[in-house]
This record gives sequence, structure tokens and C-alpha cells, in this order.
Amino acid sequence: MGSASLPSNPWIETPLIESSALSKAAGCRIFLKLENLQPSGSFKSRGIGALLQHSLLNHHNPNVVHFYCSSGGNAGLACVTAARTLNRPATVVVPLTTKPLMVAKLRSAGAYEVVQVGENWQAADTYLQERLLQNDEGGVYVPPFDHPEIWEGHSTLVSEVARQLRDQNEEGADAMVCSVGGGGLLCGVLLGLERQHCDWSKACKVLALETEGAESLHKSLQQGQLVTLPSITTIATSLGATRVAQRALDLAQKHAITSAVLSDAEAAMGCWRFADDERILVEPACGINLAVCYDGRLKQLLPELTPKSKVVIVVCGGSNITLQTLMAYRNDYGWIERSTTNDAEVPSTLSAPPNGCHVR
Ligand SMILES: *Cc1c(COP(=O)(O)O)cnc(C)c1O
Repeated sequence: MGSASLPSNPWIETPLIESSALSKAAGCRIFLKLENLQPSGSFKSRGIGALLQHSLLNHHNPNVVHFYCSSGGNAGLACVTAARTLNRPATVVVPLTTKPLMVAKLRSAGAYEVVQVGENWQAADTYLQERLLQNDEGGVYVPPFDHPEIWEGHSTLVSEVARQLRDQNEEGADAMVCSVGGGGLLCGVLLGLERQHCDWSKACKVLALETEGAESLHKSLQQGQLVTLPSITTIATSLGATRVAQRALDLAQKHAITSAVLSDAEAAMGCWRFADDERILVEPACGINLAVCYDGRLKQLLPELTPKSKVVIVVCGGSNITLQTLMAYRNDYGWIERSTTNDAEVPSTLSAPPNGCHVR
């Protein structure tokens, strides 16, 4: 990276901070890798930024390149944001079901054009491929997760974590936690750990999380082959890939990762408790990674953890969330706080509504 011909990097180095509230809640040392601070609001700035850089560097005429993406979510935002940084246009085609909030975010991030067409993602993507991409000699297709350059870009987060732990005089992490949609992030994490060439990274456990209704990796691991879900039914829409990348399954098997499935209620709870404990707003696709810190979940999933263990949580971020949505989640799923353990040292224990009742 850092070629002289490129304006600047589409992603930034993000902080790695130890959270005392989440450590108290989880019963081990929790380090947060704050990918929510990336220019596009999620870790996708890394992988998609790397893909855009790579295609510009390898294009015979970079001055005609125009990027096309059919994700109305964080991948689309990362594409538009990175394209702006690299001074190239990006067009996003999204289905009619995409929420006005995300369309507004794509426009304000500087999309060349946002086209809303088709009933579902497939229809929008077909329109993009057949009507736009094929008629543009500079057209470059930007997929959301299934591409080696994307995994390469995501893997930079692991090299950063390794260096940041060293700088904090920590020997390494005992576990890393990330969520899985199509598995691009997981590929990046596992490839990054493979590359570290140090003892801790070989022994580091990886906990991969999905929500019920988007558990395409979990099912594939159970059956030993790629499983395609008939549909996606979860509020964690950014995890909604009906099938993971083959590479994600291969790497998950090779590294014998721990795969777990949580409910939408748990994903939502992770969002509001994280907001109360750390004052950071993330979407359910990320909240699921934080939910494991509460009420003993992490220790159930990784029983080998001790109070001295260091766990790095990838706070993957996500822009598809507002205060209003968060409050609606808390209203719908607040009952889950009935099981909240009573720990006055964890602030979100105190901000829980009495008996986990509905908030009105
Ligand atoms: C895309 C995304 C994921 C899942 O990443 P994959 O590479 O598709 O597995 C998780 N969290 C957020 C916030 C995302 O935007």
C-alpha cells in the first residue's frame, strides 16, 4: 500500500482499548478493536478499500475506473467512502426494500448515483451487472465479501492488534471474537493470525458468531459442506448471507474455530448494554459480539478462559442503527434483561429497566 500515485488510504488504524466494564461483566480481560471508527463506520473499509486500491493499481487506465456495488448496507457505504478517498466515482444499486436511512447515508457519503430497483438483492444485482457494468468500459464490480483482496484488507486488523498488544506490553491474545455474514471478516482474521508467525497467534482461539436466521457458517460446519439457507430471518441484516464463502468454511475447519449462534434478542441486548457501558452505538450484527460478554455467555462458549485471559472483540461497527431503532429493540427484547446478573460494577446492570419490562 501507500503507492505515491494514490491519494490516501481508505481505512485507518483503529484503537485497541481494554474495557473495564466489559471485563468485569465477562470475567476476563476484554480488549475492543474499534472498527466502528473506520471512515465508513465498519471494518469493511479495510477489505473493500484494499480491493478498490488493488483494482486501480492494476487497471490499464485508472482514470476511467467507475466502481459498482449492489449492497445497500455497510459494503456499499465502504465502497462509496473508499471511492471518494481514491477520487473515483462509485454507483450503488439497491433493492426497493433498502431503508431510506441507508440510501441517505450512501448519498451523503458521496455516491455518484444510488439506483433503487428490484424486489430483492438478486434483482438489483442483475440490473447492475446487465444494465450498468456491461455498458461501462471502466466498470469494476465490488462484491461484499467473497474476494481474496477483501480478505487481505481485513487481515490488516490482526497485524494492528498484534502490534498494539506488544506496545501495551501484552504477550498476545488468548481469543478473538468476530461475527460472520458471508465470512469475509472471518477469513481476514484467520489469515491474519496465520501470518503472525508467533506462538500466541497459533494458539489463539477464534469465536465466530451468527444470529438465528443467518447461521450459514454454523450449519455448514455441522454438515461439513456449504449450506445455503432458504431465507434470512434476523434483525442482524448485515449477517444476512444465505451462503458463506467456500474459503471461510475451509479456513474455519482448518483452524477448528468455535462457532455459535445467538438470538436476535441477544444481539439487540449487546447493542444497548454496550451503548450504556461504553457509549458506542453499533448495529445488531456487531452487538452479538458484545452480547457474549454479559451473563456468563463467553465462559460457556470458551470454558478454558480464566480471569487473566485476554479476549479481543472485533467491534465491527455498522451504520444501520439509530437511537430510535435501539429503543425499539429494547422495547421488543427487553425481557432478556430478566436474566441480567446483578453486578453493580457493570454500569449497564444499573441502567436495565426493572424486571426487564417494556420501556414506554
Ligand atoms: C459485513 C458485516 C459483518 C459480516 O462480515 P462478513 O465479511 O460478511 O462475514 C459483520 N458486521 C458488520 C457490522 C458488517 O457490516
